[in-house]
Amino acid sequence: MRPWIGFALFVVGVGCAVPLISSAQQTDGVSPKRADKVVLTDAEWKKKLTPAQYKILRTNGTEAAFCGRFHDSKKTGVYSCAGCDLPLFASNAKFDSGTGWPSFFQPVVKGNTWKKADRSFGMVREEVNCSRCDGHLGHVFNDGPSDKGGLRFCINSDGLTFKEFKGAKLTAEIKRLQSGKS
Ligand SMILES: [Zn+2]
Repeated sequence: MRPWIGFALFVVGVGCAVPLISSAQQTDGVSPKRADKVVLTDAEWKKKLTPAQYKILRTNGTEAAFCGRFHDSKKTGVYSCAGCDLPLFASNAKFDSGTGWPSFFQPVVKGNTWKKADRSFGMVREEVNCSRCDGHLGHVFNDGPSDKGGLRFCINSDGLTFKEFKGAKLTAEIKRLQSGKS
């Protein structure tokens, strides 16, 4: 299949019209080692997760644009991995990308996500995964806000859970997470 046909089918299939990234973008490529790694069998994941969460996190699924719970949420708080509760993104890095998926310009803690090349659908994209359970979260593109580092983490709502923190409590929570204290 020619690459552009693959992309056209992808666009039709999931209603996704996001720009592509260059293959030169940096990729970590390897699941980070951590003491708190969560490793479950496929049967255990199926039991633990809802079907929608399982589809995103364990089968590299993509939810339809503008259909997820969090794409237009303006609530302030912290988004964590639906598979293992690792805090991944904070609302102060969320922005409206117009794509229909929750979009962030950075993870709340560097190292809580890792990236690898995704060559499906005839494209080269960078897949974003959770560092603790290796769950698939979405993709990262280089068309994010230029004054915030230029990245756009395009994340599926069903890969996330949300805990609300308001005002100074959010600032304190982000500080706590970034300090590495639990
Ligand atoms: Zn996880």
